[in-house]
Amino acid sequence: MKYIFVSGGVISGIGKGIATSSIALLLKSAGFKVSPIKIDPYLNVDAGTMNPIQHGEVFVTDDGSETDQDLGHYERYLNESLNRYNFTTSGQVYLSVIKRERALEYDGECVEAVPHIPEEILRRIEEAGKARDADIVLIEIGGTVGELQNVFIFEANRLLKLKKHADVLHIHLTYLPIPDSIGEMKSKPAQMSVKELNSMGIQPDILLARSEAKLDETRRRKLSLFCGLEREDIISAPDVKNIYEVPILFEEGNLTDRILRKLNLKKKGEDLRRWRAFVKKVDQAKDRVKIGIVGKYFATGDFTLTDSYISVIEAIKHAAYTKRLMPEISWIDAGKVLGNPDLLKGYQGIIVPGGFGPRDIEGKIATIKYARENNIPYLGLCYGMQLAVVEFARSILGLKDAHTEEVDPKTKDPVIHIMPDQEKKLLNRDYGATMRLGAWECKIKKGTLAYKLYSQGSKINPSSPLVFERHRHRYEVNNDYRDLLEKNGFIICGTSTDGKLVEIMELDKHPFFIGFQFHPELKSRPLDPHPMYVGFIEAASKLRL
Ligand code: GLN
Repeated sequence: MKYIFVSGGVISGIGKGIATSSIALLLKSAGFKVSPIKIDPYLNVDAGTMNPIQHGEVFVTDDGSETDQDLGHYERYLNESLNRYNFTTSGQVYLSVIKRERALEYDGECVEAVPHIPEEILRRIEEAGKARDADIVLIEIGGTVGELQNVFIFEANRLLKLKKHADVLHIHLTYLPIPDSIGEMKSKPAQMSVKELNSMGIQPDILLARSEAKLDETRRRKLSLFCGLEREDIISAPDVKNIYEVPILFEEGNLTDRILRKLNLKKKGEDLRRWRAFVKKVDQAKDRVKIGIVGKYFATGDFTLTDSYISVIEAIKHAAYTKRLMPEISWIDAGKVLGNPDLLKGYQGIIVPGGFGPRDIEGKIATIKYARENNIPYLGLCYGMQLAVVEFARSILGLKDAHTEEVDPKTKDPVIHIMPDQEKKLLNRDYGATMRLGAWECKIKKGTLAYKLYSQGSKINPSSPLVFERHRHRYEVNNDYRDLLEKNGFIICGTSTDGKLVEIMELDKHPFFIGFQFHPELKSRPLDPHPMYVGFIEAASKLRL
């Protein structure tokens, strides 16, 4: 097995996850089996307990792990499903070391931060490789170089290099700013980030030089001299219009060849054809389709951050690009919609994504009412589906107090209620990894919109119309209201296999109104867009404003 560590320098947010995913895709297309692992330095055991504004989206895998959004990028680029072995945190690492110590598994040794923490990290890296029978493990080190909290991950890298020499590479993604006031690209911060790596005993083998513009020969020479790398090992990585171009950009910079040469591997093939064809479609996308996402996890200080909904955004793009459409996505703060529905004018499709808690809930419900009454294509994702039930119960069934127990535990009409097994967990404050998580089978009813779309996307076979979708929730549709709902034009088109849990709903007499108890976006890939998003984008593109 070979190992490639990927670290970031200077600032965060320059695309380390995209770079790692692109490298994974390039190595896969060169004929190798790749297993990526993200190691996050924080103490949370997983990403499930964090606020999305702090952490970004929680990406859920088939096996129900609550992971970092980078796992979403890995899956989208590799077009493969990953699992718990592909994600770990310092929290998990420390927890297992301490548990092992309590079980006397260190044979009376003094258990120390070094070497025991890096050793546990290496054990997990090994496991990630074995779980996928990989030729190459790609290890993305969370955070940026120079932080105290990720030093043990770098130490694990150093120790592995000592042991396996040429089988271990380090690729450093660094940043070269072009300050307006100076007007030229500056390489000093990048030099400093490499120095910082050197101080931990690591010499990078390849530098990815992120900047707004292409790297010129002058800066390449400087980086080569001061960072001690061959010029060919410094790959220019300027901003691109769309993140799916990055693998092609790296390929043009000869990255795959440089990596394989250093690892003593020979290319077994090259197959980027489908990827290139997809990227071409993006270039050909002309007609716009205007989508509004109404949520609450946008604001960080004075800035808007869309990281909380990254899979939703990418799923919209996959579907739109496939249809050669250019999506124009707007962020609408749910808190502002209430009493101001005009904010929703001008969108061809509206999405209420997943969410938790009471804040801005009435704004979301008002949004759903607007989409329903004005025949605007609507996609409800988890909370967005539950609130569609609340809106329908209030407006059509006349149950004025209908609500979800999550917001109003004493409501007279709890159309959405806590799942029975969840109640105890909440009472015991047992919050970590206890939601209904991961992929579950869902049975699709024939003759419905959902059935039509899944069939078009070749996702079901008629003899057993089952799909396998990813969940993350504690509440569900209350079965006591199902008859009443269904008698009034509310169609339950997908349920759990035992029929007890409502998984998908749609509305009669509406051009496109569909909601899911799961998150279809978590399974959308550039080369395999999700049929529900394709259907939604198609319906939206037909709406003339
Ligand atoms: N808060 C809702 C629940 O827990 C919906 C969760 C979600 O949107 N992922 O059931």
